[in-house]
Amino acid sequence: MAPRENIFPNDPVNWPEIVSYQLLSHFVELGPCQPSPLDLKLNAFPKKKNSNGNLRSFHENYYFKRLEDGTFCKRTWLSYSPSLDRFFCMTCKLFGLIKAKTSYLATTGSCDFRNISKTINLHESLPEHIQSEISRGLYTSNTQIDVTLLESTNRQVAENRKIMEVIIDTLVYTARQNIAIRGHSECVDSNNRGNFLELLGLFGKYHAPLNAHLQKINSKKYNRLTFLSAESQNKMLSILAEIVRSKILRDIKKSNLFSVIIDTTTDISNKEQFTFLMRYVNEQGNIEERLVALVTAPDSTGRGLFEVFCNITEKYGIDWKKRLCVQAYDGAASMQGKYSALKTFIQNENPNASYVWCSAHLLNLVIVDTCDCCIVTKVFFGDIRALVEFMRARKRTASFIEWQQQLYQNQLYEKYGALLKALNSIASANDSDGDTSSTAKSLILRISSFNFISTMVFIRQIFSITTPVSNYLQSKSIDFIQAIKLVDVAKKQLEDFRLDNNALEKILNEAKQFAFDHKLLEQDFKEKIIKRKKVMPGFKDSREVMIDLSLLSPERLMSYSQCGGKSLPDDAFQSVSKWIKSIDLNKLKIEYLTFSSSLNELIDGLGPKQLHNITSTLNTYGEENDSENTYSEKSESEDEESKNENVNVEKILHILSSHDLITAFPNLYTAYKSLGTIPASSASAERSFSNVIYNF
Ligand SMILES: [Zn+2]
Repeated sequence: MAPRENIFPNDPVNWPEIVSYQLLSHFVELGPCQPSPLDLKLNAFPKKKNSNGNLRSFHENYYFKRLEDGTFCKRTWLSYSPSLDRFFCMTCKLFGLIKAKTSYLATTGSCDFRNISKTINLHESLPEHIQSEISRGLYTSNTQIDVTLLESTNRQVAENRKIMEVIIDTLVYTARQNIAIRGHSECVDSNNRGNFLELLGLFGKYHAPLNAHLQKINSKKYNRLTFLSAESQNKMLSILAEIVRSKILRDIKKSNLFSVIIDTTTDISNKEQFTFLMRYVNEQGNIEERLVALVTAPDSTGRGLFEVFCNITEKYGIDWKKRLCVQAYDGAASMQGKYSALKTFIQNENPNASYVWCSAHLLNLVIVDTCDCCIVTKVFFGDIRALVEFMRARKRTASFIEWQQQLYQNQLYEKYGALLKALNSIASANDSDGDTSSTAKSLILRISSFNFISTMVFIRQIFSITTPVSNYLQSKSIDFIQAIKLVDVAKKQLEDFRLDNNALEKILNEAKQFAFDHKLLEQDFKEKIIKRKKVMPGFKDSREVMIDLSLLSPERLMSYSQCGGKSLPDDAFQSVSKWIKSIDLNKLKIEYLTFSSSLNELIDGLGPKQLHNITSTLNTYGEENDSENTYSEKSESEDEESKNENVNVEKILHILSSHDLITAFPNLYTAYKSLGTIPASSASAERSFSNVIYNF
């Protein structure tokens, strides 16, 4: 019986069959429906003819009960329904037990206005109605208490939130700065309670709620929630980690394309730790490398690692079978070997997941291997290791430092002379035992041989080329093209060094001078150094793709922009489109040429500083002859290298995303995204290890 137009939300006609707890408080709040005649449509209660022919109607006087002392009291139970023109008992409906709830005044109501006085009085005296009234009274007084309780809890909650904010910020700070959270002694009267508690103490000075909280705790009054216990810290950290992880995973899902960087290492408890990093391009066109999981691997074989890989990807809903385009490892056999290695298990299900050997590791392996393939350098590094091992003892280190301060003072890198002096004093010291003296003596002989000195000079020369490259390769921001260029420059320098006919003589002269300066007995060779060569494998695994990707290098793109109308090689981007299935080969070619032709205007949008850098690069590379399909873009000098640093893959991704050009160049964007996704090194995986090992 729905009313045509009902302006009374508390009209009994709106009462539902069953009243839920929420609706109960809603209707209690609205109160009984007690309209005055003026509220009604006809400005009066409708008049009805009863069986005797008399006109009868409801009257607003019934809303009040006349008490014995002549005063009036409101009947909070009596509800009139304007739409039905009937009266009801709201209290029995809302608070009645089964008998009251099913009584006619609670369900159908009454329109017997002739006997209304009698009906009302009778109902008011019914025990079940009185019971309902008691329930209502209890309910309203309780909710009033509830409300005040609620308000005070809210205040407490708000205060706790403020405190939590500082605590969480402090935790995040310690995590970011990589400093230990806990102190050795965290009790109230300790001098140093650890970074976390000490920082909170400091903040408390400037943060009233936190200060009150800390004082409450320190006064040792009973307090259930301190938020400062180790359990709280761990709980909060894991919650924070989950939040961060879910954000990363959301970004990765949006990016649609990602690579994994996996590394394993043995932690201090001798368990194999498996780090799982992902590299992707986010919506703003930034290249991200993020740690997603760090777990213990029960089994370090290829199959075992693959199981861990599957567990992680399944747990976090990572669609590696479709979206994974590159896998990068440090070169361990269980990961990259031909058979039954992690790489192969992944490629069995996703052949497009190209494999990249971490170039920083590769470089280190090359160096280690090269040093090992020649007896002279092998002995040299053996001697160094023995020396380091011997000098590690605290007393010996102290002697060395003492000599170094005496001999060189501010020259930090000059160690040789101090080392000799220290070894001499250790060998002749009264408290040295026979073993120590003998080892010290033989070490002196070994490191003062002319062989050692000349090798040292030689190795220093090599490392002055390779060490900066190695360091740079380990930075996150480097993209694959930059890595290749860096390696090529280093390769060129090493080749020049080898081709230099005077190089050997220079080294020998330097070594002789060194031996003379340090008054060493042996100042020349007794035998000749024999040179040998060893070839190391390169990035063979994905070479075809790399050739294609080299077209995407900023220099190439710019050279196309300079000579507009030049067409691409026929086979351009073929392997890339095979690798990344979502790329349309023909569209990519068109997009590439279109984009390169408008590159100048787009760069104008980047601001004056970048403009300068990029145009200078343009001038350098504009004339360069475009040698088709070779990926080694050899730079002439390091000078050009530095000019190029400002235009990298990430910058182009930025141009595409910041100008809202992704919809215009979808294939090109995907191609650049895939290029940005290729890790140049797995160094991030190691960084996350060192955090694990040293911080927990
Ligand atoms: Zn009632």
